[in-house]
Amino acid sequence: RTTGGGAREGKAAIDGVKNVIAVSSGKGGVGKSTTAVNLSIALSRLGARVGILDSDVYGPNIPMMLGVSTLPKQINNRWFPPKMHDIPVMSMAFMAPPGAPLIWRGPMLHGIITQFIRDVEWGELDYLVVDMPPGTGDAQLSLAQLVPVTGAVIVTTPQEVALSDSRRGLAMFQKVNVPILGIVENMSSFHCPHCHHETPIFSTGGGEHAAAELKVPFLGRIPIDLAIREAGDSGRPIGLAHPESPLSEAYLKIAGNI
Ligand code: ADP
Repeated sequence: RTTGGGAREGKAAIDGVKNVIAVSSGKGGVGKSTTAVNLSIALSRLGARVGILDSDVYGPNIPMMLGVSTLPKQINNRWFPPKMHDIPVMSMAFMAPPGAPLIWRGPMLHGIITQFIRDVEWGELDYLVVDMPPGTGDAQLSLAQLVPVTGAVIVTTPQEVALSDSRRGLAMFQKVNVPILGIVENMSSFHCPHCHHETPIFSTGGGEHAAAELKVPFLGRIPIDLAIREAGDSGRPIGLAHPESPLSEAYLKIAGNI
């Protein structure tokens, strides 16, 4: 896949970046950032050069999830992102002191996203994975206006409400001509490590249903697993902490489906 055609619409591709992938969700807390990080690691394990742009204004957690502790360097008005596991990372978190409330109005948000896209030395990348803020708002529009987006991945939990969330996301991306790469169902079910019982905490199948009904690919499902939460909190994503685990395999499968 390449991001061709955008120039016609007045957008300019990012120098050296072949594909821009938006990772999106209807609401917060469904594991969108976790999916963005683990998908990036999986793509990189499959041999792709990957960068992450964390544009989630409400919870810019990517640096924490990847264990990034250095700030970007600014040289001659160009930003050089810190790298972790060979993955350059830019984040809203770098733009405000920790704990400070992040209040972004539409034009400010557009400004900062423009800067992230235009003023950052991303280098040569096969994929720039963009962790979007939840919902269907200004950031999505800004991104779609600024660059040709290869496609969007929609992350959802498996309840039936997933369908209405996904439908909204789909409609928004379609409006701005961004193709949907598919739906990832996160927090699918819980396999108890003690009694080995499988519990569908957030129900089952919603993501797959949504994909079938909306006629977009179902990219795969990720169970609820303590290891995923711990890996995220400790700055060492599961694909690096436990590369041979079934969870890492599940992320590799999703990456392979993109
Ligand atoms: P979002 O970006 O949608 O707001 P996050 O990725 O920040 O959500 O995830 C919210 C919380 O849920 C985090 O603590 C994360 O570690 C945890 N989490 C996400 N996916 C899973 C999963 N499959 N299993 C266990 N915990 C998860």
